[in-house]
Amino acid sequence: MITIDGSFGEGGGQILRTSLALSLVTGQPFRIEKIRAGRKNPGLLRQHLTAVKAATEIGQAEVKGNVLGSTQLTFTPGAIKAGDYAFAVGTAGSATLVLQTVLPALLQGNGETTTLTLEGGTHNPFAPPFDFLVKAFLPIINRMGAGVAATIERHGFYPAGGGKFVISINPTAQLGSLELVERGDFTAQVARAIVAHLPFDIAERELSLIGRKMDLPGEALHGETIKTSPGPGNAVTIELTSQHVTEVFTGFGERGVSAEAVANSVVKEAREYIAAEVVAGEYLADQLLLPFALARGGAFTTLPLSKHSTTNMDVIQKFLDVKFEVTTLSNRAVQVEVR
Ligand code: AMP
Repeated sequence: MITIDGSFGEGGGQILRTSLALSLVTGQPFRIEKIRAGRKNPGLLRQHLTAVKAATEIGQAEVKGNVLGSTQLTFTPGAIKAGDYAFAVGTAGSATLVLQTVLPALLQGNGETTTLTLEGGTHNPFAPPFDFLVKAFLPIINRMGAGVAATIERHGFYPAGGGKFVISINPTAQLGSLELVERGDFTAQVARAIVAHLPFDIAERELSLIGRKMDLPGEALHGETIKTSPGPGNAVTIELTSQHVTEVFTGFGERGVSAEAVANSVVKEAREYIAAEVVAGEYLADQLLLPFALARGGAFTTLPLSKHSTTNMDVIQKFLDVKFEVTTLSNRAVQVEVR
């Protein structure tokens, strides 16, 4: 049985999600202790419990310790069962992070297509927003050989949540490796601002600042009022498409933070990415590690690694016989290679 210390490195929920994901993929049971010890509200929250529930059902697993606030969990997976599933976080907790937990196991195999209906937050700070998932992450997964498509039915913002999306996953026998080292020239740069139950003026101010600072023409700026969200919310993205990748940078409106400040933080992220001449930004990097490890090869360039990425590498290497080689390319770029 593999033992994982949930407090090491970044000390957050990703240690649990990666462990569940790879336990499902490899069939190896594990025990995790000190779950989310690095967070101010340690232990399992609703969002993590939903991820455990999804992993347990899809992997026909036996689980102990799956209660709210638990800091220990033992997970013994069975065979992966493709099919139709629905999981609801029940709070604004991120539904895309539930997906992150079960997707790897559903990507590989000769089995039938799986359809997941996930409810909860779709546009949460500190989690992959739905648009990032669909435009940045999934296209890479599909290039590795899987067929994954997602449709949003309702947006769910923090704190009301209540979003919903449906994702269909058509597995491949073996994920193929990718060399994502060169970004190539930019072919499109677009900004989008969405608001729900809030004045449209917020979106306009965000887009006007981004247009000015990123030198984008009016046609590249898209504002939208979202009518399907149960609660209020605002998100603004800058989507940068180059020859070999699309990256999506997201900012979230917050009470007490001006629309301009939200837009400025996204511009800063996008500019850092453009200047570094890398393929993957900080978040895409930590999320590519697992599928790249499953492909047993490949490489990508990215910004200097976050603690999320280095922690994720450590967890992955506990379950899979792979090595990550990190080469510094400059003071703002590294290359990650999987061996
Ligand atoms: P944790 O903090 O351990 O719960 O993990 C958060 C996960 O959400 C990581 O995989 C991050 O890469 C991802 N994430 C956080 N913020 C963003 C963002 N703005 N865009 C895309 N992914 C994100």
